[in-house]
Amino acid sequence: MTVSARTNKKSLALLVPMYNEEESIPLFFPAIKTVMAEVDVDYKIICVDDGSSDNTLKMLLAEASKDEHVQVVALSRNFGKEAAMTAALDYVEADAAIPIDADLQDPPELIGEMVAKWREGFDVVYAKRVSRDADTAMKRSSAGSFYKLFNKLSQIKIPENVGDFRLMDSKVLEALKCLPEKDRFMKGIFCWPGFSSYTVEFERQERAAGDTKFNYWKLWNFALSGI
Ligand code: UDP
Ligand code: MG
Repeated sequence: MTVSARTNKKSLALLVPMYNEEESIPLFFPAIKTVMAEVDVDYKIICVDDGSSDNTLKMLLAEASKDEHVQVVALSRNFGKEAAMTAALDYVEADAAIPIDADLQDPPELIGEMVAKWREGFDVVYAKRVSRDADTAMKRSSAGSFYKLFNKLSQIKIPENVGDFRLMDSKVLEALKCLPEKDRFMKGIFCWPGFSSYTVEFERQERAAGDTKFNYWKLWNFALSGI
């Protein structure tokens, strides 16, 4: 039974892939909880530990033991962000879900606006970066070329400068379950079902703590997997 079935209130799941995020975790949970206290939904934070070698899993379990909003899924090794996100999707029992990074580069403050647009009737609410100043020049230009090439090749277009951070209604989540792809490029997979969408914009900040888990080799493989 979903939370909403009991209380008649809408429910939202936040999906958080985490790989070696021990420095972000003490900043992430307070930021999320402050925001969620103001959003009128029942919520769960589904955290997937993607085979971290630091204290991430230990810290997540401690958080879950004191806060019933927090659920932890632990993967047996590091499978990569796309697999961690896929695992999180398997655990959603909510009216909508929002994938969000642990490093606060996807600003939780946007969640209220995304939920408001969902309540207006949009099934997908994209969060689009208006600037990529927090990225290196190399990442900015490679991302630009990637979106151009991808959208030229693919019939299903992906919106430029939109990461995984987006709200998806349960209708969209149900459709995603039909996709058996083993090589999972989530930005493409998330767009496949279609449905009505709205875009909110934000300035992407630097990581709140810790370091990026993506080097150029990983990004290259990621782009190839998308194509
Ligand atoms: N992440 C993950 N598994 C990985 C790499 C990254 O779960 O193998 C998570 C990471 O902990 C973070 C999110 O994916 O919550 C985005 O990673 P990161 O911030 O390093 O990417 P960037 O923002 O630099 O593209
Ligand atoms: Mg990041």
